[in-house]
Amino acid sequence: MDRNLYLYNTLTRTKSLFKPIHPGMVGMYVCGPTVYGDAHLGHARPGITYDVLFRLLRHLGYKVRYVRNITDVGHLENDADSGEDKIAKKARLEELEPMEVVQTYTLRYHDAMRQLNVLPPSIEPRASGHIIEQINIVRKILDAGFAYESNGSVYFDVAKYNEKHHYGILSGRNLEDTKEGTRALDGQDDKRSPMDFALWKKASPEHIMHWPSPWSEGFPGWHLECSAMSEKYLGETFDIHGGGMDLMFPHHECELAQNTASRGVGGVNCWMHNNMITINGQKMGKSLGNFITLEQLFTGTHPILEQAYSPMTIRFFILQAHYRSPLDFSNEALQAAEKGLKRMLQAAKDVKNLPVDESAAPSAEISSLKEKVYDALLDDINTPVVLSYLFDAVRIVNSIKDKSVKVGREDLATLQSLFTEILSDVLGIKDENDGAGNGKMIDGLINMVLDVRKNAKANKDWATSDLIRNSLKELGISIKDTKDGCEWTID
Ligand code: ZN
Repeated sequence: MDRNLYLYNTLTRTKSLFKPIHPGMVGMYVCGPTVYGDAHLGHARPGITYDVLFRLLRHLGYKVRYVRNITDVGHLENDADSGEDKIAKKARLEELEPMEVVQTYTLRYHDAMRQLNVLPPSIEPRASGHIIEQINIVRKILDAGFAYESNGSVYFDVAKYNEKHHYGILSGRNLEDTKEGTRALDGQDDKRSPMDFALWKKASPEHIMHWPSPWSEGFPGWHLECSAMSEKYLGETFDIHGGGMDLMFPHHECELAQNTASRGVGGVNCWMHNNMITINGQKMGKSLGNFITLEQLFTGTHPILEQAYSPMTIRFFILQAHYRSPLDFSNEALQAAEKGLKRMLQAAKDVKNLPVDESAAPSAEISSLKEKVYDALLDDINTPVVLSYLFDAVRIVNSIKDKSVKVGREDLATLQSLFTEILSDVLGIKDENDGAGNGKMIDGLINMVLDVRKNAKANKDWATSDLIRNSLKELGISIKDTKDGCEWTID
């Protein structure tokens, strides 16, 4: 914590020194997925962005309480106050209980995040587990006069709120912009103004997920869950709230208004938003045929993919752009990232076994490299610049390896720490072919199988020998017969 971290705050539109409310302890909330379908590319960027922040804060010595929610109720289609609940719709189409849908896709999301080496949050609360807390907030907002009841539903009164506070402060709009951006009421609506948003919705007879409340048997509005769960686990005001830029309006704007209306404070010191991902220059969307799930990326089973891309390739690629910049996916860009990652990981392996030369003079380049890496990391998590300095480290490692440069003990330790502490611990980049602790076991197993093949060959049992070769090939392990036996490589 003797190093200063600067973060860009969407609310103040400035980069400023990060100072947690409780020294040594950081409270961080990030909007998690609505679990009605497979995790896709759009989940990877916030997952990885806030994972790096979580890792960095811990690396700097903070204790972090990281809350990332699961939305399992209340998120209606088109993010509007009408339409079907996304999870209920999936349940209806697949003839499942809504909670079966939630369970299935929560597990798949976890699996995708684990493959991307995204650490699990400290708490992962679900909206449906916090109905009472949400009802309490609706009550407080009604008591404060910033909401009204209409036919069993409760709506946030945006115009009334805006008389005292600024609705639009986060996304940088005024009430007129907001008015223009909303469609007109259709006469069937219970709302007084199209800008108003639901805090509580009365359930129609066919709506399967509903709970009792003072106003009706119904369900909470989508924005309410994050106000409720962040306050419950992090307190009235906490340090960091993150999410994708697409959530800034209306989701986070409404959350901020709900917080202010119910507890008198906006509740968040630093709002952070990651930019979006495009594919070959286009927004990702089901109708455009470029909607790619993470599973399809990892296995290469989408028509626009030329090959499979490993989770680490995706992670490395995402970190090559600053989180506030847009990022475009293409086969060429991913293949370049794959190459770069390979070079980086080879150096991370080589740096462990470089020879020390006690006569080598201290290297100003190596010691300044470490400072430059920290400067970039602490400057609003500038990962592309961090990676460019790590590539400088790769070049130095390679010149020591080919003996054109000598390195002293202290400098070598500094170089090694760039790969272990920064690349691995903070950026979360690991060698997928060398799972922590598994590498040795995998080596042992492959050598054992190859011994069996050697015996089979000695017995002229070609069928077994070929079976082993082909099975290993399918697992991505190539073997090459040499005059002294056999060599193997993982592709
Ligand atoms: Zn949220």
